[in-house]
Amino acid sequence: MKTLNLASYSSLRIGPVVAVEVIDEVKENSSFIIGGCNNLLFSPTPPPLAMLGREFDFLHVENNLLHVGAATPSGKLLSYAKKHDLANFELMQKLPGTLGGMLRMNAGLKEWEIFNNLVAIRTHKGWVEKKDIEYGYRHTNIKDTIFEAKFEIHKGFDATLLEMFKKLRDNQPNLPSAGSCFKNPPNNFAGKLLDEAGLKGYRVGDMAFSDTHANFLVNLGNGTYEQALELIALAQQTVFERFGIHLELEIKIVDKKKEYEA
Ligand SMILES: Cc1cc2nc3c(=O)[nH]c(=O)nc-3n(C[C@H](O)[C@H](O)[C@H](O)COP(=O)(O)OP(=O)(O)OC[C@H]3O[C@@H](n4cnc5c(N)ncnc54)[C@H](O)[C@@H]3O)c2cc1C
Repeated sequence: MKTLNLASYSSLRIGPVVAVEVIDEVKENSSFIIGGCNNLLFSPTPPPLAMLGREFDFLHVENNLLHVGAATPSGKLLSYAKKHDLANFELMQKLPGTLGGMLRMNAGLKEWEIFNNLVAIRTHKGWVEKKDIEYGYRHTNIKDTIFEAKFEIHKGFDATLLEMFKKLRDNQPNLPSAGSCFKNPPNNFAGKLLDEAGLKGYRVGDMAFSDTHANFLVNLGNGTYEQALELIALAQQTVFERFGIHLELEIKIVDKKKEYEA
């Protein structure tokens, strides 16, 4: 077990001090698995948590495929791709997380997604091929803990893409957040809807929708779980009343009483 202060470990800087099971071998896991906690809003009472140990932080080539441990941080994978001139990992520029979290979320930016050149993931049941996984925009149906994944190898790291990703992130706030709060609805943008609904910069206590990018729920200092929930509910209600559009959460709420949203 490891003691984690979620108020400093999670990117939103909210959560209690908890004991987390460290998983150091491939086995079935029924606890809520965390990666870098860059997409999570923790309640004061989360369910039992687990995280992968250092054994799952690795990169190597085997049979012309890149094998990556699910605890490997995005920055390490990006550096590896740069050093070995590999294409398709440029999207990890300033995309915080571990490989497990990125795969579970199918993390990405625009058409660049982590699933693009994925071959298979490894769970306690063995290797599961990409074709057997349901996935889409910021969604997968992965229920099991991922321990490792393998990717196609294509030569040609594209430094110009890094510049583009940097530019796309220019309007992102530097305050603690969990990235985009809501998914973009089909043919629309959550940030634009929140802005038009008058919620850009709207604040409850120390939580707010950023005044630089309305879809970033930010912690201004001592923001709480309850304040975050209040803002989320207000945004969903206001946008639905104004535009008839339901905003679906991209960040995940981790609470033992809430049915976990897949
Ligand atoms: C400043 C900022 C910018 C961001 N920009 C983007 C962006 O451009 N695009 C984007 O997609 N996201 C973005 N995000 C969100 C976040 O970076 C991604 O969702 C990332 O994939 C989270 O990885 P993590 O390791 O932190 O996962 P966590 O937040 O810890 O967990 C996310 C989900 O993955 C699951 N999970 C974690 N590890 C495993 C595992 N080993 N096996 C199975 N499931 C697992 C968790 O149970 C949870 O459901 C941003 C976040 C921040 C703070």
